[in-house]
Amino acid sequence: MTRRKLAAGNWKMNGLESSMAELKAMIDGAGSPNCDVLICPPATLITGFAAAASGSAVSIGGQDCHANASGAHTGDISAEMIADAGGTAVIVGHSERRTDHGESDADINAKAQAAWRAGLIAIICCGEPEAQRDAGNAIDVVTDQLAASIPEGATAANTVVAYEPIWAIGTGRTPTNEDIAAMHDAIRAHLAPRFSDAEDMRVLYGGSVKPGNAAEIFAVSNVDGGLVGGASLKASDFLGIVAAASA
Ligand code: PEP
Repeated sequence: MTRRKLAAGNWKMNGLESSMAELKAMIDGAGSPNCDVLICPPATLITGFAAAASGSAVSIGGQDCHANASGAHTGDISAEMIADAGGTAVIVGHSERRTDHGESDADINAKAQAAWRAGLIAIICCGEPEAQRDAGNAIDVVTDQLAASIPEGATAANTVVAYEPIWAIGTGRTPTNEDIAAMHDAIRAHLAPRFSDAEDMRVLYGGSVKPGNAAEIFAVSNVDGGLVGGASLKASDFLGIVAAASA
């Protein structure tokens, strides 16, 4: 089974209008890669980025959405708004959302359904804290998260899973390739009985992916690309990751 890899960049709370030059360098540098490429900038940049990326190999997405389509939710944006701005995907359940905003698996499940309602791909994040890894519970923690946060109705077309061990995000540390393989195998074993086209669903690895380690990580069995934070901000870094995902 060969799944088309996805190189997804999460810009988090970084990026201004002046970042358009970086996006354009990514678009030009990516050309026609042998993988899918997604950049999730802050909400303020989605419209402009989507317009600039139109017709290119780069898609644009959001970093979070509210579960409702509209309403009295000051400061939130809906999946419909991301779609209206030209986005095609949205990250839900990033560990920073789970930690900073107290999001539960049930919240993330509702957000994933909101993404589908708006026609967006839901990139559903999971990942264990370091204490759970050290206690030998990482696989149980992650499969419990997935059981509760991936709604029934997920398909390979509407859902991507991103495994991001919390202790590897932004730290420069990564699990061993054996640990990544064991987790991705476990995630696939969780998906297989639940979803009829689970075999086609992509499972990304995220956590300190860089141009220097991307090829090795993407070669691990059942790793279908990466969700990349810091190294997605600069075209010179991100294009190395896109190249690794294209190989
Ligand atoms: C992320 O925030 O999704 C992430 C993986 O960050 P970094 O690549 O910087 O570790």
